[in-house]
Amino acid sequence: MTVSVDASYDCDLFVIGAGSGGVRASRVASQLGARVILAEGSALGGTCVNLGCIPKKLYSYAAHYHEAFAQARGFGWTLAEPEFDWDVLKARRGAEIARLNGVYAELLRGANVQLVRGWAKLLDAHTVAVKTTTHEQRFTARHILLATGGEPLRIEGPGAQWAMSSDDMFDLSPFPKRLVVVGGGYIACEFASIFHGLGSKVTLLHRGPQLLRGFDGEMARFVTAEMRKKGIDIRLESRIAAVERRGEVQRLQLADDSVLEADTVLHATGRRARSRGLGLAEVGVKVNEDGTVPVDAGFTTNVPSVHALGDLVGNKALTPVALAEAMVLIGRLFGEGRRPALDYATVPTAIFTHPQVATVGLSEEVARTRHGVLRIYRSEFKPLQHTLSGSTERTLLKLVVDDASDRLLGAHMVGGDAGEVLQGFAVAVQAGLTKAQLDRTIGIHPTVAEEFVTMRVAASRG
Ligand code: FAD
Repeated sequence: MTVSVDASYDCDLFVIGAGSGGVRASRVASQLGARVILAEGSALGGTCVNLGCIPKKLYSYAAHYHEAFAQARGFGWTLAEPEFDWDVLKARRGAEIARLNGVYAELLRGANVQLVRGWAKLLDAHTVAVKTTTHEQRFTARHILLATGGEPLRIEGPGAQWAMSSDDMFDLSPFPKRLVVVGGGYIACEFASIFHGLGSKVTLLHRGPQLLRGFDGEMARFVTAEMRKKGIDIRLESRIAAVERRGEVQRLQLADDSVLEADTVLHATGRRARSRGLGLAEVGVKVNEDGTVPVDAGFTTNVPSVHALGDLVGNKALTPVALAEAMVLIGRLFGEGRRPALDYATVPTAIFTHPQVATVGLSEEVARTRHGVLRIYRSEFKPLQHTLSGSTERTLLKLVVDDASDRLLGAHMVGGDAGEVLQGFAVAVQAGLTKAQLDRTIGIHPTVAEEFVTMRVAASRG
């Protein structure tokens, strides 16, 4: 298929933001024959590559070694006391991310996407200005894509001036011996687990009654208990009343009058869509109160030539979602036309806590509001590995099944490699498989995942 080129514009598609969604959209549009210009004000690859998924997962691997060294003794290994060097990890992560930045540059070059380095803003529905350190360049475009992602919410209140965001944690110096993490979402829980594993004494403060709101409640409570068992001090319904700084040490007074000392306080209390400074109001692009940009099912804003996706629109702030949204938009603008709308209800996700949480489909709570009688299958056990490792870590698997249709509505897991296990079960939930089909599936023995196809007796029905 050949894209119709309108030579009255400098390009067919101008993309703002070289993160997950913007890079995918640029490459695919260019491969379909569109003339694409992409503007990026910071490092190529966006949040995921530079300040999110990738460096976080590398640090999570690093943190797991701590336990692995201790557990190896149960299998007959004798090791000298291991030592951790934070500067080595930071440097090795930095080198790997720089390599990935280079890979992205190469991919864009190979796809014939013109890259402009600088901060972009809209001047009108078909014109973008890009500001570099030395000058401003203007470009006209038939279509403009906003793929500017999100950023940590900067907090106000006690200690705000000394608070770190997740962006600041990757290159922190020195390593925090005592870390307080404020927040109850997945980023707060992941950083608590990672820094605990690397050797910090971690306290997690959350003002709500339960961590991981929106996830299956039973799974959230289970992982909270597992994290506590590992030694993270998790305080629910807890607030900071005052913060004082003495030298490098912050003294936190909590609302219950207890006092904590910390070298670093991380506030992971939410993210905001990055819609400010893009000139949207001036051009008439609607912006929601929370900063997200409303779009139709094809990712077009209320201005027909301006499109938006990824964290900026805020459907589900995950890299694979931004990628899938890019495929829908570019298919519609330059490809074979309309693609089926994305099914956000079956997007799987993992939380890289220790142990991990992974989930696909409906939580038990949401399923109860949408379906009639449910069958809940549950299996909680000590994994084979921990019969010798000395660890007390336990695993929980859960299936939510619609009793009338026998359809699998949700699958949830807390345990080692839960993200790897659940990816396969995401196929089952997405395909609308029944419990009977899971029952006909033969397990792989001995694995943790086989439990998902061997749970025969419902723990509850109602
Ligand atoms: P981004 O990747 O954020 O890219 C936006 C880009 O636009 C940035 O490079 C930015 O510099 C650029 N930009 C912004 N404004 C302008 C402008 N005016 N001009 C030029 N350039 C501009 N997702 C997962 O799926 N799995 C995970 O494990 C995971 N872990 C995460 C951990 C953390 C700590 C964080 C913060 C996020 C994590 N995410 C994870 C979420 C994931 O990173 C995002 O959903 C994803 O990066 C969104 O892609 P995007 O294209 O919308 O935006």
